[in-house]
This record gives sequence, structure tokens and C-alpha cells, in this order.
Amino acid sequence: MLRSRRFRWRRSGDAVPTGEMPATVAHRTPQCCVCGRATVVNLDAAALLAWQRGALVQVAFPNLNAAERELLISGTHPSCWDTLSEDDD
Ligand SMILES: [Zn+2]
Repeated sequence: MLRSRRFRWRRSGDAVPTGEMPATVAHRTPQCCVCGRATVVNLDAAALLAWQRGALVQVAFPNLNAAERELLISGTHPSCWDTLSEDDD
């Protein structure tokens, strides 16, 4: 079962009405510029469609934090950003 992973990109406090679970689709991000790995995330199908049609990512996915949005846009993992900033020193 992938039950525990289905809503991994939703904040835990979000209200998702029981019985009205939004359809999710697997979306492959671009390759991370640090580690070179793409990531597959489960996203709300309607939100993904809106984003692909030109909606701003923060409008299409208001529940995602900045790091999660960055992952969608560029494929860069939050942990890889940490690696980059450490390299600055
Ligand atoms: Zn990475």
C-alpha cells in the first residue's frame, strides 16, 4: 500500500474531506542540478493541470512551501540546496 505516501506533499493540517479525496497524479520533476536525480511526486491532478496551463506555481499549489515549489520548478531537492549553501563558504 502507498497509503502513507499519497498526500506527502500536503501539510498535515490540511482538511481533506473523507470520501472526497482529490485525484492525484505522479509528476516527474526536472533533474536536480546538484545530484542529477529527478523526483516523482504525487500532485493534485487539477492543480497540476492549472500549473501546466500557465498558473503561477504558488497559485496552483498554495499548500506547498517554498522548498517544495522549488523542487517542482527546478528539481532541486531541499537537502541539495543545503549542500549548495555550504559550498559558498
Ligand atoms: Zn538533489
